[in-house]
Amino acid sequence: MKILMDDPDVGKIRRGISLSLLKAILTPKSGFSLRSDKRYSLILYNHIRKFFRGDGRGVFTSLFAPTELIYAFGLIPFSLEMFAGIAAVIGIVPAFLGRSDALWMSTDLCSFHRAYMGIANAGVLPEPAFLLATSHTCDGTFKSFSFVSDCFKKPLLLLNTPYEDTDEAVRYLAEQLFQAKESIEEITGKKLRDEDLERAFYYSNRARELLAQINELRKESPPVVYGEDFMKLILAWGSLFGHKKGVRLFEGYLDELTRLRGEGRNRVRAERRILWLHLNPFFDKSLIRYLERELKAVVVFEEVNQVFWEELDVKNPWESLARRLLSNFWVGTAKRRLGKIVKMVEDYSVDGVIHFSHWGCRQSNGSVRLIKDTVQGLGVPFLNLDGDCIEERNISDGQLRTRIDGFMELMR
Ligand code: SF4
Repeated sequence: MKILMDDPDVGKIRRGISLSLLKAILTPKSGFSLRSDKRYSLILYNHIRKFFRGDGRGVFTSLFAPTELIYAFGLIPFSLEMFAGIAAVIGIVPAFLGRSDALWMSTDLCSFHRAYMGIANAGVLPEPAFLLATSHTCDGTFKSFSFVSDCFKKPLLLLNTPYEDTDEAVRYLAEQLFQAKESIEEITGKKLRDEDLERAFYYSNRARELLAQINELRKESPPVVYGEDFMKLILAWGSLFGHKKGVRLFEGYLDELTRLRGEGRNRVRAERRILWLHLNPFFDKSLIRYLERELKAVVVFEEVNQVFWEELDVKNPWESLARRLLSNFWVGTAKRRLGKIVKMVEDYSVDGVIHFSHWGCRQSNGSVRLIKDTVQGLGVPFLNLDGDCIEERNISDGQLRTRIDGFMELMR
């Protein structure tokens, strides 16, 4: 962080970020309990390093942007939310948030957006070819991506995801996806080849299938692994779907889970089974470890790891991609999300539900009251924790632990 404050040399800053990331992965402090988790971090590290080469093939993407399209053009998608999350893991977010504050960005905005706007303004990222963003899940993406697009003077391709999942909405979004493809051809001077799109769809579908199998295994009781190891999988969105490294990532998790399950002796002791909603603090695992290891309340599933979409169909690419975007549980009214939560409560036989209300996320936090009423209506205890996924100043570890302790009493 000091180098970000004191030394404006971009090359040094990039090397500093790469080294910090490597240190976070390879030193004993990393505390990975799964080999696949370590492999995931290395995949992300290599992805970032490739992007930092700055060979003009990088594309800034929002979390749910259709990265298959980017890979089909031989480009490298780089999710800005993912990078904000990784910056939190290696402890450099405060410097960027400070920069965002100095630009008069409102502090009640989601800190992911504030962080990546600060990162873009700091000039530490290589120039992208263009930016690709969807309006879901958060409306703020349009504004923050417009800011980043201005910083780099690069075109921003926006996909306006309707709120309704109807045939008309599919057609509207499919047309936008097709237009995005045309714009990319114009920007890159390269025509999209059918076989490249087919390959990207194949990898995406394979990753989807593997994630679905992992999710099935996680229904078992007692659980095979701790939830801690899965909570950052969300960062794969916006960067890895549509490429073989996404497949490798999920293969690694599935193989390890299957092996541990087969050995049978390493089962996790879970006195309570928890469903975790929304995200969690990326900069510090101590809260989750306290919950899972000390209190034996194991997170058996996370809302963000749901496979909510159908396989992509290369014969009907634009409509198929549109359907995937529209089937996201965060698109539309809270009713859709509530339906999924009820199903997860049943499928994973949970004893309690925890929602982590990330600072400034109107998208998720706005439904907390409805979620609470629905979950409690099922006779399942519910806890809402206020905090921040990437900004330590917005989180009070002591208070959160006290609330978790009270929640444990309630579940008992
Ligand atoms: S935390 Fe909420 S507001 Fe922030 S990026 Fe995620 S969905 Fe959007």
